[in-house]
Amino acid sequence: MLDRLTDLLLFRYTNQGKDNNTNEKPYITMGSIVWGGLVRTILIVVISWTVVGYYELRDYWMVPLLAIVGLVIYPAYSQYQHFTGRIEVMQIETLCGSCKHFDPTNQLCIVFDEHVSTTYIPCEGDSWEPLTYEDKTS
Ligand code: SF4
Repeated sequence: MLDRLTDLLLFRYTNQGKDNNTNEKPYITMGSIVWGGLVRTILIVVISWTVVGYYELRDYWMVPLLAIVGLVIYPAYSQYQHFTGRIEVMQIETLCGSCKHFDPTNQLCIVFDEHVSTTYIPCEGDSWEPLTYEDKTS
């Protein structure tokens, strides 16, 4: 119950429930994490600026900082962990995971500039090239 409420308040519950490797278009990507963080930070700064200015609450400058930690940094980190865990599974389960053209940071095929999933491989295996040791270390 508390976990669900926490997820709901931190905008994680609906996102992570829907996000899995079979979606052709992923719900959570590095872009969505960065975008969510920026939007939440801007909202907190604007609201804090307005409230502090209107009520002259300069002694409570810690509250916006705590709001940024609780509503931006923690959920973004949680989503990043969820995203990287899911991509690790995808790399094991799909052909793209062993291809040099797969970009795990964006879940993208670089050749086709499309998201890949366990149900959608843009080249259908025709453009697959093995990941070399140099690719993994670079
Ligand atoms: S080239 Fe084909 S196998 Fe390689 S990442 Fe793109 S879609 Fe996947």
